[in-house]
Amino acid sequence: MKVTVLGAGSSAGTPVIGCECSVCQTRLPKNVRTRASCHILDEATSIVIDTGPDFRSQALRENLKHLDAVLYTHPHADHLNGIDDLRAFCFRQKAAIPLYGNAFTIENIQTRFDYTLFPPTEHWERPVLTANSVDVPFDVNQTIVVPIPLLHGKWPILGYRIKNVAWLTDVSTIPETSFELLSGLDVLFLDCLRFKPHYTHLSLDEAVSLSQKIGAKQTYLIHMTHEIDAVAHANLLPEAVAFAFDGMQVTV
Ligand SMILES: [Zn+2]
Ligand SMILES: [Zn+2]
Ligand SMILES: [Zn+2]
Repeated sequence: MKVTVLGAGSSAGTPVIGCECSVCQTRLPKNVRTRASCHILDEATSIVIDTGPDFRSQALRENLKHLDAVLYTHPHADHLNGIDDLRAFCFRQKAAIPLYGNAFTIENIQTRFDYTLFPPTEHWERPVLTANSVDVPFDVNQTIVVPIPLLHGKWPILGYRIKNVAWLTDVSTIPETSFELLSGLDVLFLDCLRFKPHYTHLSLDEAVSLSQKIGAKQTYLIHMTHEIDAVAHANLLPEAVAFAFDGMQVTV
């Protein structure tokens, strides 16, 4: 199974428009972060987690040509608003693509993006998607996906586990009952917004301490703002914890 980080950035992305801080100005490749998303290729099954506003450029960068499913963590714009660019995949595949999310997220998609859920016309000029509300493990082809209930501030959202890899973005609290779903991980991708605490995200200290509690063999931090310099701050991280970056690939 191959996991590609499509984006490791927070809602504003890095660089931030108009920002003159050193991280935004120097634009080191490891500090250029598009909005948080990842692609998982398990045998031939191709899955994306979230489609933010950078989804089109991410799909082009990684040469994605086929999608079997989209897993949504929650309906914030930086995770959902690239949904229209799924149209290219529906058009190529001449088939509906299934979306998965918790009931809260699916209801939001049905309200804001209702036209993506209509049947196709002969022109396939819109995304043609089907919405599936999930709270227990399900399959995409032969691949088993485990939803991980999380809290993003007061919002109930989902992380996802596929085999021994989990993607937990935009999390401020991991409910006690979700820890057992995270045992035995090889790779954990975990929210790490910035240094200061934030009411809907993990700070760097919180992310490091949760990574130790979860105990994956390797943790990669995601959804970082421009406060985090992936090069200058790398020495703040303990062993087996590292900053993710756009285009990073992990094979498990
Ligand atoms: Zn976000
Ligand atoms: Zn900046
Ligand atoms: Zn969010």
